[in-house]
Formats: sequence, C-alpha cells, structure tokens
Amino acid sequence: MARIGFVGLGNMGLPMAGNLTKAGHEVLGFDIGGAALEAARAAGLALGDDLAHAVREAEVVVTMLPAGPQVRAVHLGEDGILRRAAPGALLIDASTIDVATAREVADAADAAGYAMLDAPVSGGVGGAEAGSLTFMAGGSEDAFARARPVLAAMGKTIVHCGGPGTGQAAKICNNMMLGIQMLSVCEAMVLAENLGLDPAKLFEVASRSSGQCWSLTAYCPVPGPVPASPANRGYRPGFATAMMLKDLRLAQSAAQAAGSPTPLGAQAAQLYGLFAQNGNDGLDFSAIIRMMRGQAG
Ligand code: NAD
Repeated sequence: MARIGFVGLGNMGLPMAGNLTKAGHEVLGFDIGGAALEAARAAGLALGDDLAHAVREAEVVVTMLPAGPQVRAVHLGEDGILRRAAPGALLIDASTIDVATAREVADAADAAGYAMLDAPVSGGVGGAEAGSLTFMAGGSEDAFARARPVLAAMGKTIVHCGGPGTGQAAKICNNMMLGIQMLSVCEAMVLAENLGLDPAKLFEVASRSSGQCWSLTAYCPVPGPVPASPANRGYRPGFATAMMLKDLRLAQSAAQAAGSPTPLGAQAAQLYGLFAQNGNDGLDFSAIIRMMRGQAG
C-alpha cells in the first residue's frame, strides 16, 4: 500500500480518492475550492494544509484537475509538485488535458527526476464512484508498472497506450468518435421522425444492424429504448455538453498541431459549440437532438 497525495477533489477526484482509501492506501488530499474541501471533509478524507503538505511525503501523487492550465500550474508553479514532492515520487495526471501540455509537464517531471504518466479516464462520475473507470496511460513501461496497482483501485480497464501524451491522445480520439457518433444517431432519429418512422422501431432495427454503436444502444438520445439514458430524465448529465465540447476542441487543436484532417470532428466541435452557446452547456450531450429538431434555444 502506498502513501498517496491526491490533488483536485472535484466530481471525479473525490470518489477516486475515496476508492484509494478503501483499498488501503494512505491518502492525503488537497483542493483550492471551498466546496470541494467541504465535501472531502464530510467524506472523511484526510486533507493537507496546502499543496506542498499533501505531496511532500507521498510515494504517488495523483492529480484530477479541470484542464491544462491548472495541471501546468500545479506541477510547474513555484510551490508546485516538481519542487515539493518527495524525490522519486510517481506522478499520475488523470485530468483530461491537451497533448502538448501533457508532454511539456512530463518532460519537466523527467528533468526533475520524477516518473510521470498521463492517465485520463473514461466512465464519468458513476465510474469514479464504482471504481470501474477506464484508464488510458501514456509514459514509460516502468512508470506504468508502478502505477498499475494504484490505478486498479480506481478502475477496471487499464491500458498502456505508449509514451508520454498517448493517454491524452487516446482519450480525445475516443471522445471525438463519440461526439460524431452521437450526432449521427440524433440526425438519423430526427430523419426517422420526419419520415413517419417511430424512433423506437429505428432503434429495434439499427441496434441489430450496421448502424449499431454505443451512442445508440447504451445512450439512446430519444426516450424509451434505453431506460437508463439521459433522454429519459430531461437530459440531466451524464456527460455534459460543456465536457464534450472541451474534448472536441482538444481534439481539434491536437489535429491542427499534427496536420491530421478531421472534417467530421471539426463539424462536431462547431455544432456542439453552437448548442452550448445557446445555453445548453449543462445538459447532457445527447440533448443536441433538440437542436436538430429546431427545439433548442
Ligand atoms: P471538477 O471541476 O469537479 O473538479 C476539479 C477540481 O480541481 C475542483 O474541485 C477544483 O477546485 C480543483 N482545482 C482546480 N485548480 C486547482 C489547483 N490549482 N489546486 C488544487 N485543486 C484545484 O472537474 P471533474 O468533473 O472532477 O473533472 C476533472 C477532470 O476529469 C477534467 O479534466 C475532466 O475533463 C475529466 N473528466 C471528467 C469526467 C466527468 O464526467 N466529470 C469524465 C471523464 C473525465
């Protein structure tokens, strides 16, 4: 069992830290947000006085932060992890951030003598609570082998994707597919409605035919066929439009940097941008079917 510093105790981080504690690790948490600290205290998580305190004796430091700027600041800042963590500590960043920042921070960690993995997750808050997240890890074989038992306390599927940044690359490629596929399902469902075809019948056909995909069979954007999908609860997330838009934009900036053509990803980013701009960023991303019906603000 390891001493673990856990930085970023938000919607995802707090239940992940809770599962590490449950598995027998000694966890010291830290967050800059009052509400997050309050919730962590209420959950009985031990808290550091500040970032340095949370990480200085840790063998492993896990970060679960909003985006690249916070990950950069927490690692590279004056009182950041690369100056305050114990020598030899393993750093695991589970946040979803841009590939370029992930590689920059991993390089700086390497120069400071720390092994680092980017290890973003899929599975949402439900997966974080259940300890069933999928981790996509980028970094050395050695760092991955050290991280595996820690990640196993928070997730079920743990994939080593390659060198630094490849975990983030896997995450944004997966979510770009998801965003595009959801749009395809919404578009087809609205066309079905307009052709006088019951969406439930289209579901019955397509879920057993070549149009089958996760957005249809596990997360259907019309109410009925998949009782657990957000469509059945007024599109309460789930996976919020704002999060989908963040990931589609990360995919677009990575695609531009790599000179890789992603015309459908670009279109998806534009459509989700429009949907979010019209006040729908807090709705589940499958609610974009409303915009296709001309019903969204
Ligand atoms: P969140 O906003 O609930 O939590 C982030 C936490 O980081 C907040 O509590 C915030 O106060 C804290 N924080 C920010 N700056 C900090 C700093 N300098 N020092 C310490 N703490 C700081 O976000 P979340 O939903 O937990 O998501 C975290 C990451 O996981 C994001 O990158 C997100 O894209 C990714 N993710 C989220 C989901 C999801 O369903 N929520 C799913 C997969 C991946």
